[in-house]
Amino acid sequence: MKDLINKIKTDGIALNEDVLKVDSFLNHQIDPVLMKNIGDEFAKHFKDLNITKVFTIESSGIAPALMTSLKLNIPLVVLKKQLPNTLIDGYYSVPVKSFTKNSIYNLTLSKKYISKDDNILIIDDFLAYGEATLGVINIIKEAHANIAGIGIVIEKSFQPGRKKLDSLGYNVYSLARIASMSKNKINFIKEE
Ligand code: 5GP
Repeated sequence: MKDLINKIKTDGIALNEDVLKVDSFLNHQIDPVLMKNIGDEFAKHFKDLNITKVFTIESSGIAPALMTSLKLNIPLVVLKKQLPNTLIDGYYSVPVKSFTKNSIYNLTLSKKYISKDDNILIIDDFLAYGEATLGVINIIKEAHANIAGIGIVIEKSFQPGRKKLDSLGYNVYSLARIASMSKNKINFIKEE
């Protein structure tokens, strides 16, 4: 997606070969026009799959996922990284290793917001090792719902997440695919 790739080129900062800082437009300060365009693009790509809900993880996935769910006119469900005190009904919970914090959190979802009839689109800001996405997948599978597709804003294709999801047969659509990074240089996989 051209405007996203241009934004990464102008405003993204490769902290090293592994971590990209995008906090001026995606996860600290947020560019609403870019988020709207991202939502429109995901909605266009997945529109024929009869999706019933969009799922994401707090907090960086919320902006692009909300715009996608708005365009598809379906609910957005935000999976929590901690068990909220208010979650007194039944819930699903799986441990996930955090890429950015190098720690484990418990990805949590109330049983109220998923049913076996759901056909779900997962949206997340980054795909690195795939741990976060696989955590969401495991919860959806536990609830016997279906995964229609996975939409990623920024995929670091040189890390193993994309290969893992492809090998499991998931329908993955990434808007920007980074082939490699070094300080001051970000190389993208060419768009077809
Ligand atoms: P994974 O579970 O695929 O290893 O990592 C995905 C999660 O880690 C994303 O939800 C995102 O929040 C965070 N993440 C992974 N790589 C990066 C990165 O390069 N920059 C930022 N800002 N977050 C990242």
